[in-house]
Amino acid sequence: YRQNGEFCMKIILAQPRGFCAGVVRAIEIVERALATGEGPVYVRHEIVHNRHVVDSLKAKGAKFVEDLDEIPSDAVAIFSAHGVSRDVEDGAAKRNLNVIDATCPLVTKVHNQGQRYSSLGRTVILIGHAGHAEVEGTLGRITGPVYLVENREDVLNLNIPDDTPIAYITQTTLSVDDTRQTIEAVKARFSDVIGPETRDICYATQNRQTAVRNLCGHVEVLLVVGSANSSNSNRLREIGEECGVPSYLVADGGQIDPRWLAGKETIGITAGASAPEVLVDDVIGALAKLGSVEIKALQGVEEKITFRLPPELLKAS
Ligand code: SF4
Repeated sequence: YRQNGEFCMKIILAQPRGFCAGVVRAIEIVERALATGEGPVYVRHEIVHNRHVVDSLKAKGAKFVEDLDEIPSDAVAIFSAHGVSRDVEDGAAKRNLNVIDATCPLVTKVHNQGQRYSSLGRTVILIGHAGHAEVEGTLGRITGPVYLVENREDVLNLNIPDDTPIAYITQTTLSVDDTRQTIEAVKARFSDVIGPETRDICYATQNRQTAVRNLCGHVEVLLVVGSANSSNSNRLREIGEECGVPSYLVADGGQIDPRWLAGKETIGITAGASAPEVLVDDVIGALAKLGSVEIKALQGVEEKITFRLPPELLKAS
């Protein structure tokens, strides 16, 4: 709206937004490994799916690679928060690499659960997105038969007899609602299904999705701060669209197209679990260049969860 001829925007921030406990821990692991100075620090895959985070760790000396073979033998090898397959872990052990595992404990929980179901003789159905690092890691943790499905159609197309004993598990960063439907499809098709009582979608994903739905009741356009390859950030954008609010994923303030804001008075901002608050500030700063802004945060769940660092790093501190 206009006030004294000036363009004014109301910005409403989702609560909670941004960093989750798994991301905080993963970044701290890299920082502490760098600080101990025990040889070069290599991270397999982006530590968390955020370019800004990766670039700032690179600037502090960390090296990022996709393949274990690229890590020299004298380096500290860190596995990203998304987790790795058994093959990657075995490969590192075979080369005697000094590994620090930054896999989020909530991802490890899903790995263990999947393998437990598999050792009970069940065929495992993993609900998740093909090609995502977490999904590759989880698939590679299960020694028995395992199938990846993304949605209801994939469940119907699975080439397995309907009376096969099934167990389902899920990626941690999915849409709560879509996953519910996919689980229902699994239960409808197969006669013998077990799965986690609560879904594997993590607390941070659930809280950010609830917060964004709430936020959408108050805003005319939604900006989700996060990288294009961040699963949970993409889900937040999709939820905004589902709620009927035009929603855009932006890595930082530089990606805002002023046309998105034309005629809008209230702008909602949230951030994916891997997006640091400095990028939210950057987005607010970019909006402030377009006119005057008034900022408020919605009430939401207060998160108190933290995860312990791996013991080898605690000793070093
Ligand atoms: Fe862990 Fe959830 Fe954060 Fe992923 S989004 S790192 S599963 S807490």
